[in-house]
Amino acid sequence: MLQDLEFGRLENEFRNIAPQKEDIAVCFSGNQVLLRRNEDNTLELPRVAQVENWANNWERWQGEPLRYVFRLHGVNYFLWMGKAEVCEDTSFCFEMVRGLRQTMSKSVCYCVMTAWHLYNWYRTNRFCGNCATPTVHDEKERMVRCPNCGNMIFPRISPAVIVAVTDGDRLLMTKYAGRGYTHYALVAGFTEIGETVEQTVQREVMEEVGLRVKNLRYYKSQPWGIDGNVLMGFYCDLDGSDAIHLDETELAVGEWHHRDALPSEDDGYSLTREMIRVFGEGREPKLN
Ligand SMILES: [Zn+2]
Repeated sequence: MLQDLEFGRLENEFRNIAPQKEDIAVCFSGNQVLLRRNEDNTLELPRVAQVENWANNWERWQGEPLRYVFRLHGVNYFLWMGKAEVCEDTSFCFEMVRGLRQTMSKSVCYCVMTAWHLYNWYRTNRFCGNCATPTVHDEKERMVRCPNCGNMIFPRISPAVIVAVTDGDRLLMTKYAGRGYTHYALVAGFTEIGETVEQTVQREVMEEVGLRVKNLRYYKSQPWGIDGNVLMGFYCDLDGSDAIHLDETELAVGEWHHRDALPSEDDGYSLTREMIRVFGEGREPKLN
């Protein structure tokens, strides 16, 4: 999956440190990120020194335009706190964050997605939602605080489930309705306030395809920063009728596929595709 790095992990502990010239600067503009696509198709993010040269006219939200976000493979990453605009260096260009799926630069994609999650959180919490006073950054943890009413705002992560509904050697596969994404997927949805994650699984399956399920088996989770989520993957068994009643506002397709002929390839990015592949290999978690 995207977050499974070759070595090490994303060190996401908060640090209150200043940028150095060789550090990475992740710069967003609208839904796009500033990067360079090298001749071998690998992706590269700019260094702080470069961005400081370009940024004279870039929009910045506050006085301090670069904020530390995380560390990867010994390199510190900073976020441009504002909007990146025209870049003087034409070897760099803006690319859509959502479309970034470059197998040769998985760790860059993962960093961009995680920085994007934080960018959206910072962007939408510049003012207190309680009293509209400009917020300030805490110095000890990743949090913004209202100096007027004391409101503390922490990064928001939305829990969601990915559900592989199985019936013996069959897997229920779906396609979303009305989206550009036309690949097969699994049932998925957000946890609602007041329910357990297990209840989310049962409710989403019932809402989207009209089926009952039992024997939930947790598999793995995945941070999915592009949508601000943490996804939790479950396998479960069909309980009762296999007749699919599709919620056509959500889904265009809901079909049973045999384990030996699953119409999906795992490109090493998403939990969904890994779960489909693992079922194809017969290695999904079983009941004890
Ligand atoms: Zn306030």
